[in-house]
Amino acid sequence: MMATTHALAGAVLAVVVAVVFPESAAATTPVPVLAAAALGGLFPDFDLYAGHRKTLHFPVYFSGLAVPALVAAALSPSTLTLSVALFLAAAALHSVMDAFGGGLELKPWLGTSDRAVYSHYHNRWIRPRRWIRYDGAPEDLFAAAVFAVPTLYAYDGTIQLGVYAALGISAVYVLVRKPMVVAAQTAVDAMPEHLVDRIPDRFVEDFR
Ligand SMILES: [Zn+2]
Repeated sequence: MMATTHALAGAVLAVVVAVVFPESAAATTPVPVLAAAALGGLFPDFDLYAGHRKTLHFPVYFSGLAVPALVAAALSPSTLTLSVALFLAAAALHSVMDAFGGGLELKPWLGTSDRAVYSHYHNRWIRPRRWIRYDGAPEDLFAAAVFAVPTLYAYDGTIQLGVYAALGISAVYVLVRKPMVVAAQTAVDAMPEHLVDRIPDRFVEDFR
């Protein structure tokens, strides 16, 4: 799934807290809390260039950390404690959601990879369910739009603007997702072999 889909899914967690607990920071100081939740949704994908879907993806451990953090936020409610808890919960949701997307291959629409996300707890890769076939698939944009609805409905101003920006970025990404790979394939084909050898395997192995 796209990073924006994950960020918007993370934001939904903050909306749920704001609706269920209208006294909480998610309702009274929504901008930092929503930002923390959205950032938690993005965070695991910062491992894109180093051990993608393994280095910063922890489906079990993030979930395990989110529970005590949520308890702490309930016992000692503040913008900070709730932001930390929602950051972790959103990162957990991201790591779990990746199992329902595509595999790790560079052309994930071909469906050849059996690696969706790594579980450090189980010491193995979880296989892709492909409910959303690959990041940037049309159904990925649909998921992003569905996740955007609660936040758009519950907030206005800066937050709404942020959500529309995320949807705009998603739509552009969906349009360029396959052409981008075709361009990369053309570039690798045209490149002398000794240059291709210097690029990390993960980025070129499927193109050779
Ligand atoms: Zn991910």
